[in-house]
Order: sequence, then structure tokens, then C-alpha cells
Amino acid sequence: MTRTATGLIHHPYTPPDSFAAPQPGVFKASTVFFKDVAAMRARDWRSKAGYTYGLHGTPTTFLLEERLATLEGGTACLLVPSGLAAISLVSLALLKRGDEVLIPDNAYGPNKALATGELANFGITHRLYDAMDPADLAGKLSERTRLVWLEAPGSVTMEFPDLPALVAACRARGVTTALDNTWGAGLAFDPFALGADVSVHALTKYPSGGGDVLMGSVVTRDDALHLKLKLTHMRLGFGVGANDVESLLRSLPSLPLRYAAHDRAARELACWLEGREEVAQVLHPALEDSPGHAHWRALCGERNLAAGLFSVVFDERFGTEAVDGFCDSLALFRLGYSWGGPVSLVVPYDIGLMRDASVSRWPHKGTLVRFSIGLEDVDDLRADLAQALARMA
Ligand SMILES: *Cc1c(COP(=O)(O)O)cnc(C)c1O
Repeated sequence: MTRTATGLIHHPYTPPDSFAAPQPGVFKASTVFFKDVAAMRARDWRSKAGYTYGLHGTPTTFLLEERLATLEGGTACLLVPSGLAAISLVSLALLKRGDEVLIPDNAYGPNKALATGELANFGITHRLYDAMDPADLAGKLSERTRLVWLEAPGSVTMEFPDLPALVAACRARGVTTALDNTWGAGLAFDPFALGADVSVHALTKYPSGGGDVLMGSVVTRDDALHLKLKLTHMRLGFGVGANDVESLLRSLPSLPLRYAAHDRAARELACWLEGREEVAQVLHPALEDSPGHAHWRALCGERNLAAGLFSVVFDERFGTEAVDGFCDSLALFRLGYSWGGPVSLVVPYDIGLMRDASVSRWPHKGTLVRFSIGLEDVDDLRADLAQALARMA
């Protein structure tokens, strides 16, 4: 982690002549001038040696791409306007009519919505698999499977899958794997050492860290795969704003520190909640009786990192109304989607509506609330939880 932290700060960058400074320059353009017609005719969007048009890259976007590729241990990166756009870029670039994509049943919801919507309209089928059962995935791989999505842990329900086993099943059949690495953020584990082909990251979360930027990245370490994604990226016209790129360049150096702080506070509160009698189960991969804990320990145990997220299943005696009341009576925790910023957030979820019961069983009856721990003082957060629990009971 020290290496990542140092690497994000002392990353190669050539400043304008005699203007070396902590932050890189910010360049904005749609139009880029060519020095003559020959240079214009020779333009090549595939090459990073020169610039052709703002949509295809600027010194500022190229710099962020390089830093993110370094962060995730890949060789090339594409920037897109959101984490969801990163998912859609990968599916649209790598799938065509007649193909099938496999998605974990507990995946980020909009990934599944893209599959049932646009992908289905384009003649691309999808199947959901049980992320906690590599045999279920292996059994669903077919001649038509061209892409398998991976995510760790599951969105909202936080089960940590056996990623190496899932990747191995795909590699045995030569199927491309794309990992949604938003939770790991390039810090908790190395997506490419694991064998994933593509790593997508909602930069909106920890890399931004401010709750004020939407952006996504698609990192690869295979030139041909990168080029294929880049071609679709260009055709779809995905671009990002220079001001947003500047925000990310500014916040990346503190990413490892912030991630560790979110993680520490989240574990402290998760352990505290585990001891409360209002709570049936705390779902946090670093807690021993959380589903997939052994897989988390095998993959992330050495670095001992786990992000700042967990979910709580309340005891059945507290119905939806009581749990909604608990969320409403929190003062520091705000109600809102996304995560990774300084403000702690809660969202109540109805898992019954999010999961396909025919694929994986959801064992709990109680209401679930997802917590994203911000950067507030942890004692203040605990006191806030305590007063809201007291009001609920
Ligand atoms: C938030 C999130 C996304 C989408 O990111 P946006 O920038 O909000 O589109 C994708 N995957 C995961 C796991 C996320 O948490």
C-alpha cells in the first residue's frame, strides 16, 4: 500500500518548462490544431503520441488514464462519464447479436438492467449466476458465452465470492472476464494478478472522494483488448470534462489514506453493531461470520483492506416501518445513493426485489440497510447510531 500511495504522488509527469508544481496543468479543448495538412491526414486516434480532438484525449485525460492504469496494475485505461458508462462500454464493445453474458445475481443492479434492456434489444442474452457457487458459473458457460462479469463483494448484500475460482472457470473456457473493481479500488487486491481481463471502476466513489464527481474507468493490460474497447469508446462519443479530471488528479494522492480511514471506521462500527440485540446480522466481508469471509481473507488478508461499506439485517421484529424510522432519525448519516465521500450514508433496500430467487437464496427475513461510512469522527457516528437504535426500540 505504501508503494501505491507513493506511486500515485510521484507519478511520471512532464510539467511545462520551469513550471514544476505539486498539481499538473489542466488542458481543455475540443479543437486541437494541426501544424499542416499532412499532420492532419496522418492523425491516428489509436496512438497517444499526438492529439487529434478533445474527445479522443488531452494531456490532462491521458495523465489521469496513466495514473489509474498504474493504480490498478494494468497498462491502459479509458475514461468514461460514470461507473455505469464503464460497465456499458465493456458490454457494448465485447458483445454482439447471438452472444451471451453471465452476470452475478448479486451484481450492481444497473448492470443487470442494461442486460434486460438494451442488450436484450440487440439480440444479446444474459444469465444470472450464483457468485458464491463457482460450479453454478461453470455450468452456465456455453459456446455463446463471450463475457462474464465479476464483482466483489456483492452489491448491497456483501457476500465475498471466490474470485480466483470464478476466473479459473472462465479461463478454462477462454471466456473474457470483466471485474467491477469499485469496492477494491485498486487497493484491496490486484485485479490483474487475479487474472481478470478488464477492471472497471466507478471513480465516482473513493477516487473522487468528494461526492461531487461522476466518472468511470476501464483498465486493461492487453493491447488488443484495449484497442477494441477504445474503438467502441470513440464510436459512442464518451468524453469527460477537464474540471472533473482535475478533481480526480487532485484527490488520487489521498486515496490510500482515505480508503484506510473509511475501512477502519467501518469495521469499528460494524463490530459494534454486531453486538447489538436489534441486529440479526452484519454483512461485512472482514467479519468472521459474514458470507465469503474466508475468500476475502485469502485475497485481501495480507493487505487487510475492506473499504467502508457494510449492510445490516435488522431483527425480524423490526418491520419496514420501524427500520425506515431508524434511518429517518439518524442525524449525521444522510439518506443518499453512492458512497466514497466524506459524509456517511444509509440506504434501506428490499433485497427480495433485487435478487432472482431461482439463482441464489436470500436467507434473511429482516429489513436490510446499507451503510457507507464517511470520514466523520467514529465516536460521533456510533453515538448517532445508538440514539437512532434507542428510538426504534
Ligand atoms: C456506484 C457503482 C457503479 C456506478 O457508478 P456511477 O458513477 O454512479 O455510475 C458501478 N458499480 C458499482 C459496484 C458501484 O458501486
